[in-house]
Amino acid sequence: MASTEGAIVGIDLGTTNSVAAAVVDGQPQVLDEDGEQIMPSVVGLDPEGKLITGVVARNQLAAFPDRTVASIKRRMGKMEPVSLGDQTFTPPEISAMILRRLRDRAARALGRPVNRAVITVPAFFDENQRQATLEAGELAGLKVERIINEPTAATLVYHAGEHDPKRILVYDFGGGTFDVSIVRMEAGVVEVLSSKGDTHLGGDDLDLALLNHTAEAFQKEHGIDLRAQPPTRYRLLQACEQAKRRLSADVSVEIAEEFIAEKDGQPLNLTQTITREEFEELIAPLVDRTIASVDEALRDAGLTIHQIDDLVLVGGSTRIPLVQQRLREEFLREPSRAVDPDLAVALGAAVQAAMIDGESVGPVLVDVTGHTLGIEACTGMTFAGPILQFSPVIHRNSPLPARYEQSYSKMFDEQDGADIHVLQGEHAEVERNRSIGKFHVELEEGGGERSRIVVRFELTLDGTLQVTAMQPATGRSEEVTINNALSQFQAEERDRAEARLGAMFDASDELLEDEDLPSPKQWNEPAPPRNAAHEDAGSKYASAAALLEKAHRLQPTVTGDDAEDLQSLSENLRQAMAADDEPAVASLSEELDDILFYVQ
Ligand code: AMP
Repeated sequence: MASTEGAIVGIDLGTTNSVAAAVVDGQPQVLDEDGEQIMPSVVGLDPEGKLITGVVARNQLAAFPDRTVASIKRRMGKMEPVSLGDQTFTPPEISAMILRRLRDRAARALGRPVNRAVITVPAFFDENQRQATLEAGELAGLKVERIINEPTAATLVYHAGEHDPKRILVYDFGGGTFDVSIVRMEAGVVEVLSSKGDTHLGGDDLDLALLNHTAEAFQKEHGIDLRAQPPTRYRLLQACEQAKRRLSADVSVEIAEEFIAEKDGQPLNLTQTITREEFEELIAPLVDRTIASVDEALRDAGLTIHQIDDLVLVGGSTRIPLVQQRLREEFLREPSRAVDPDLAVALGAAVQAAMIDGESVGPVLVDVTGHTLGIEACTGMTFAGPILQFSPVIHRNSPLPARYEQSYSKMFDEQDGADIHVLQGEHAEVERNRSIGKFHVELEEGGGERSRIVVRFELTLDGTLQVTAMQPATGRSEEVTINNALSQFQAEERDRAEARLGAMFDASDELLEDEDLPSPKQWNEPAPPRNAAHEDAGSKYASAAALLEKAHRLQPTVTGDDAEDLQSLSENLRQAMAADDEPAVASLSEELDDILFYVQ
C-alpha cells in the first residue's frame, strides 16, 4: 500500500556522517548523491553567507572553523547557542540543516518529494535528546514518524527472514557515541532486551587522544602548542583522524604536515611516526569503557555471553583492530560481518519507515525505554522532615508502548492536594535525576480509601509520556502530557527558527525546490522479496511479542504456581506464534495478559 503523502525515508543522523535510505521495490537502498552514500554531518556558510553542507562544508572546516559546525549531535538536548558565522543557532537548527540536505538528496534519488522520516538516535539518548532530534526533523520539513534506536535499526536488516530464535549483541561504536544493545529475534519479531551506552564516547575521542599525543610531542620539541590556534588545531585533528583510519590497515603511519607553525620567522613542519601499538596504548582505556558497557548490558538482560548467538558490529570505529581484538578476547566470539557497519543503521531505519507506510518488509520492532521514569515520593520521615526519593513507575528497558500504575498514600488525612514531580533517571536521590514535568492534583480530604493516590504512566512508541494522578475513591484526577514539557522551543522561538531556516534553505545553491525534482534514478534489479509470509506473521504478533517480553522480565520475581503458569503460557504462546496459529495466539495472549496483570 503506497502512501500518497509523499515519500518516507529512514535517516541515520550520525555525529560524523549521515545516511538516507528508503525501501525501493521492496528492498532497502541507500539514497546516494553522485555515488556518495555517506554525507559528512557538517554545515557551514560559504564566503557569501550561503548555507553549505556535507563534503563541501567539511572541506572548509580547517580553514574556516568559525563558519563551520561539525559533531552537532553531541550537543543535542542542550539549548546552548552554536555560532555559525556571525549568527547563533540552537543544536536542533544546525541538525535541521543536515536533515534538510538529506531530504533533498533523498527526493532527488526517488524523484518525488520526501516529507516523512524515521530518524535514528543512540539507544542511550535521553528524552531531551530525542525531542531535540524530532524537532530538528520538523524544522527540516519532515514529519518524524518515529525515532528509533540505532542498534535496533541495524538489527532490522540483520537476519532478515531467519526463523530460528537468536540473541544478538549489537556493538555500535561510531564517531561521537557508543551504544550496545542486546536484541532477541524470534518469529520475525525484534525485541530489545537491554541497551547501554555512552553519548560522549566515539571515534572523535580517539582522534583527540592522538591529537594530544602528537601536539605534546611537538610542544616538547619546539615549545609551541599546536592546539592553541583553532585553525591549526583543526588541521592537526584532521591529520590525526586520517592517521587513525590508516592505522586500521597499517602497523605504522606518518603524520606529516608542512608549515604547521612558525618560530623565529621560520616555518616548522610536523613529521611524526605513530605505530599501531602506540595508538592502541593511547586508546585502550576508551575501548575498555565500551567493554564495561557491554558487561552492563548483558547483566541488565540477565544473560551471559554464552547465551548470545551473534556479535554485530556497527559504526566506523569498529574497523579498529584493537576493538575487534578486545571483543574477541572478552567475549570469545568472532564478530559478524553480515552488516555494513556504515550503512546498516540507515537501511534499518528505511525498513521501519516502509513498515509505517504499510509495507511488509521486515521484522516488527519492540522497542524499550532507555531510562527509568517515575515521580518524587516520600519514603519516610525524620525529625528534619520527610525523606523524598525517586520512585520508579516505568523501569528502564520496559517494552514500548508501556503503561504502568503505582499506588501511593497521602502523607496525612487532611491533605487536599499533591504535587506530582515527574523525573527521569536511575538514582534514588531526586536531584540526581532529570526533572521533566510537574503538576498538581487536588484531592478530597479523608483517610481510608481516600488516602490512596494512583499514578499512571503511559509512554508511547514515539516517546510521548502521559502522566495521570487519581484519587480512586473520589474519581478526582489530573493529567499531563510530557512531550510539550520536553520541547526545546517556545512556540514563538520555533516560528522564528522555521522562518530563519526557510530563508537560508531558499538562498542555498545546493538545495532544490520540490517542483524541480529530476526523474528518479534507475535502481538495480530488486532482490527477491524476503520471506514475506513469515514477516507478515511478525507484524501481526507485535503485541504478543511485547507480552512475552514482559513475562520474561517478570519471571524471576514470580514464585510457585504463578511462575509455572507464566512459563508454560509463554512457551505455548511462542509455539503458537511460530506456527502462525492466529486464534491460539489471540487466546493465549489474553490469558498471558491476565496473569501478568495479576502478578504485577
Ligand atoms: P560513524 O559515526 O559510524 O560514521 O563512524 C565514524 C567514525 O568512524 C569516525 O570517527 C571515523 O574516524 C571512524 N572510522 C571510519 N573508518 C575508520 C577506520 N577504517 N578505522 C578507524 N576508524 C574509522
